[in-house]
Order: sequence, then structure tokens, then C-alpha cells
Amino acid sequence: MPSPQTSPKSSVIQALRGIVPAGQDQDIVSLNLVQRVDLSTADGGETGAPTTAVIEATLPPALAAQRETLRKQIAEAVAKVGAGADVRFSMQLSGGGSAPQQNQAGQTGAGSAGFDASGSNNPLPDVKHVVAVGAGKGGVGKSTVAVNLAVGLARNGKKVGLLDGDIYGPSIPTMLGTDRYEVRASGKTLIPFELHGVRAMTLGALVEDDKPLIWRGPMAHGALKQLITQTDWGPLDYLIVDLPPGTGDVPLTLAQTLPLTGAVVVCTPQKVAQDDARRAIAMFNQLRIEVLGLIENMSYFIGDDGKEYDLFGRGGAEMLATQTGIPYLGGVPINTDLRKNGDAGDPTANFTKNDQLAGDLQNMVKAFEQQVSVVAMQQNAPTLTIS
Ligand code: ADP
Repeated sequence: MPSPQTSPKSSVIQALRGIVPAGQDQDIVSLNLVQRVDLSTADGGETGAPTTAVIEATLPPALAAQRETLRKQIAEAVAKVGAGADVRFSMQLSGGGSAPQQNQAGQTGAGSAGFDASGSNNPLPDVKHVVAVGAGKGGVGKSTVAVNLAVGLARNGKKVGLLDGDIYGPSIPTMLGTDRYEVRASGKTLIPFELHGVRAMTLGALVEDDKPLIWRGPMAHGALKQLITQTDWGPLDYLIVDLPPGTGDVPLTLAQTLPLTGAVVVCTPQKVAQDDARRAIAMFNQLRIEVLGLIENMSYFIGDDGKEYDLFGRGGAEMLATQTGIPYLGGVPINTDLRKNGDAGDPTANFTKNDQLAGDLQNMVKAFEQQVSVVAMQQNAPTLTIS
């Protein structure tokens, strides 16, 4: 996929993307091991040829033995773009938890969302990974990605929950087909819907379809918190949370209520969409929610003639990923079946009735799972710096 490189830093990151540690099927950038790339350039500015690159990378215990090989590979890759490399590694020690820290959302604890490492302030201790799906603006396919991610993970044998956090315009009832069923409760506890292998809860099930959902901030906060804590999720490998578009209160509520492994940002390929995605990334950074990766939706279009049409400038999200150092988790094409199956509440059909679509979705799910496991490994390990 073409992704024109403009800055020397992009060239270095691109070169590092060619390094895949033995035993892994992703490169060191996608594995989120590269923490810092700093360049000195010939003209001291953004555009001159790089002369020295300081690369800081974190190595999990499983890769510790490859330290010198990786150092050599990094130096060689950086030399190819014309610079000398100063490579520094941080090693992670397995086990234990990192020191509690205060985050912007006001909680203390370890990990991206800053929760107590002992789990004592976690209302859903039986959920291994909470991952938010966000987008800078509406209509880019955020809910579509959230639903298909959840269904794909469930099809891979994982226990998955899907929380419709898009409380202002819930799409999950239509896309997952929950709108055909009544919500059930046991006392004060909501029983999640179980559809397409996924446990789902949505505010859309609790309100009338045609009433606009107008929430004041505190009401929205309370409603979301109740959906999270009063639903009987049971043990889950993943709880996927579909956030409202943009940068409102809901992500803050989520960060204050649950420890998140991270978030994925969905964007379409156009330049303007990248600007919106940057705002979403900045919001997650501010909330200290790790951005696990970028997903490009409506990446390209396959015509009836079987040809691929590049309508919006395919590769835009991948380029944004390169520029920001955030892993790219794959692209989903514009596909009529995806829209039809979304409208019909039948996401399983995306995985069973169209091989090309199923392949793209499965690749996205696989990249997502790998990224979650790497980030979780990093969040759970204290770091010891050894250069
Ligand atoms: P968002 O959550 O970002 O507002 P949605 O996921 O609700 O966006 O998608 C908006 C509409 O676009 C839906 O009708 C959905 O089925 C359709 N759509 C999303 N992604 C695709 C795609 N890749 N191909 C075809 N239709 C899509």
C-alpha cells in the first residue's frame, strides 16, 4: 500500500517496521516496542537528512535474549536511511505491578487507566481487557468496527462483551439485532443479550426507538456507569466499548469507571479524517488511555468488475499510524454486504458469506488480539532500564 514518506522521522519508523523479532509475526513498531525516535538532522530541522537517530525500545522478557540481534538490526535499518543509530533498550521484568500513578481522570493506580493494581477498585474484576472503540467524528464506521471486532473475537473462541457506550445514538440494537428482543433483568441487574456469540448491553434497549436521547453531562455519566456496573457480564476476555464519536464526557466516565487496556481509533483514509483521528488520539492520551491501534474503514472499494477502486486515498490511516508511531491494525473496504448485514443485524454473515470481507475482518481481529496481548504484557511488567 503506498504511503508517501515526507519526514526523516517517518523514514526511520518505516525502516524499523521491517524488523520482526524471531518468533513474532509483527514488526517492532506494530508490537509497540519502540518508545522513542529522536533524530539529529544535517540542517538541524525537520527536513534535512538524519545523521544520528536515538531509538528507545522496550523489550519484554520473551525477547530479552534477542537484545543484541535487535540492536544490530535496528542499527542496520537506520543506516539504510543514512543515519547512525544510538539504540537504548528498556527491559521489562515479568510479574508484579507498577507503582500507582495519578491520571488526568483523577484515579490512582497502575496501567493506562490508572486503576489499583490489586483490582480492588475495579467493578468488573472478571473482565480481562476493556477496550474502547473511538473515532474523531460520526459516520466513519466506528460502530461497524466495534460490532465486527466483538463478533470476530467471539468466533475465535473468546468470551466477549459489547457495551454500547454511544448513548446519544446507539447503533448496536440494529447492528447486532438486539432490537428484536426485550431487555431482561434479575432484580437490579441487567441480563445482557447473547447474540452472535457476544454478550451485549445498550441503552437503546431501555429507551424508545424514536425518542432523541438528550442527556446532560451528569445524567450521561450516571447512565453509562449503570450500564457498565449493573449488567451481569460474567467472566469475559474482552469487553468492547463503542464510544460516541468525538471527544465528549463518555470516554472520561469510562476511564473513571473501568481500567482500560486501551482504545482503538477508527478513521477513513482522507486527510480531513486523519485530522479528526488526531483529535481522538489526543483525547485518549490526555485520559492516559493507550491507543492500541488505528483501523482504516472504507479503505477502498471493490467494484462488480472485481477491480479495487481507491475512492478516498487508501493508506491514509496507515500513514497516520507511521507518523504517530501507533500500530496500524488493518483496513476494511467499502462493502455493500457490510452495510446490508449491519442494517439486518446479522454481523455473522460478514464472516461466513463473503470470503474477501471475512479475510479483511479476520486480519483486523488478529492484529487487534496481538496488540492487546503485547500492551497488556507491557502494562503488567515493571520496567528496568539497561542501555
Ligand atoms: P459510526 O459509528 O462511525 O457513526 P457506523 O458504523 O454507524 O458509523 O456506520 C455508518 C453507516 O455506514 C452504517 O450504515 C454502516 O453500515 C455503513 N458502513 C460503515 N462501514 C462501512 C463499510 N466499510 N462498507 C459499507 N458500509 C459501511
